[in-house]
Amino acid sequence: MTKQSINTTCVQGGYRPGNGEPRQVPIIQSTTFKYDTSEDMGKLFDLEATGYFYSRLQNPTCDYVAAKIAELEGGAAAMLTSSGQAANFFALFNICEAGDHIVASSSIYGGTFNLIAVTMAKMGVTATFVSPDCSEEELHAAFQENTKAVFGETIANPALTVLDIEKFAKAAHAHGVPLIVDNTFPTPINCRPIEWGADIVTHSTTKYMDGHGSCVGGVVVDSGKFDWLAHADKFPGLCSPDESYHGITYAEKFGKEGAFITKATAQLMRDFGCTQSPQSAFILNLGLESLHVRMPRHVENGQAVAEFLEKQPQVEYVNYPGLPSNKYYARAQKYLGNGGCGVVSFNLKGGRKAAETFMKHLRVAAIETHVADARTCCLNPATSTHRQMTDEQLATAGIPAGLVRISCGLEDKADLIADLAQALAKIDEK
Ligand SMILES: *Cc1c(COP(=O)(O)O)cnc(C)c1O
Repeated sequence: MTKQSINTTCVQGGYRPGNGEPRQVPIIQSTTFKYDTSEDMGKLFDLEATGYFYSRLQNPTCDYVAAKIAELEGGAAAMLTSSGQAANFFALFNICEAGDHIVASSSIYGGTFNLIAVTMAKMGVTATFVSPDCSEEELHAAFQENTKAVFGETIANPALTVLDIEKFAKAAHAHGVPLIVDNTFPTPINCRPIEWGADIVTHSTTKYMDGHGSCVGGVVVDSGKFDWLAHADKFPGLCSPDESYHGITYAEKFGKEGAFITKATAQLMRDFGCTQSPQSAFILNLGLESLHVRMPRHVENGQAVAEFLEKQPQVEYVNYPGLPSNKYYARAQKYLGNGGCGVVSFNLKGGRKAAETFMKHLRVAAIETHVADARTCCLNPATSTHRQMTDEQLATAGIPAGLVRISCGLEDKADLIADLAQALAKIDEK
């Protein structure tokens, strides 16, 4: 059989019903599962047999949806998590412990920056942040003896920088560690980081994958390509016996394809319990069924809005990797051939006051602290998420007071542009 299109995988991947079984993914709304003998259940606890015993660790509905996302990303295995934050924490903490070190791009989601720079630091895991545009020398210089992972975002939220995945993967592999890429903004429809050398891919499924602003969720996908045993000294958690699981050595028992996700499930999900509910997984799957239809429209709207804004006299600059004027245009052409996402940011010449006037008059776009769903929304960091900062502090942080982030939804682009045009005109009325 020829390789199936990703479009078909969006619709039919993961769950493949047998004769007479439900066509739609069943919601297995059960915390627990029944066995005939204690011996049968014992085998599950020993990881000697596969099966379900408690939904904190694994649930069939969640596994069907995780399997679909693994297929979409070209990975070997995946697990759903309660949020994108949990996904990134699990991806890192599965291979890093106290005394270890992470190399991360400085251009990442604020929540993930805080997770790595503050919370994981309290757990004894330190990090060095590098610019996504650093030279190869600067990148290599960031590594230490105890470095265990490299982390970046394909398109960073909200900076919209584009990661040079091949360069970061090469550096990670030269130092014997995996590259973890948060692929939330492009989704596998627009970029599959594993094809460019990434080893582990994460998502906040809250964004485009769900796509309707319905459920908070996350996913960790393992490529199954990283050879843990070849670097056994760096990854004792995968390459030496786990005494909390009867002395199992994950990399030996489950191989390259199974070790990472099995360990994350058996240890991290067992101990932290950041599990996704089967209801949420079902709703996430409804979103995935149309992901390949929705993403091109988000990109079309983002591109049209970016091109429109770039021509407006009230706009100082527009930040969108699909614009030829953008610093990341060439890199976006390479990694994001079908376009990146529907999120655009732009700076209004009139600063905070202009942003306030503009936002107040929007009729189609709503003011929200969310991105990447069907309804267009926008945010002015200076008057919302970053309102404690002065204009000077904002400028230093690269978030000028007049900056507006707009997440283009699935509405008609002519209506979006008309809405922006009338709100921009209000800035000039005084
Ligand atoms: C939103 C987001 C997260 C966090 O995801 P939650 O589902 O809100 O926990 C992580 N990474 C990126 C790129 C995001 O956009």
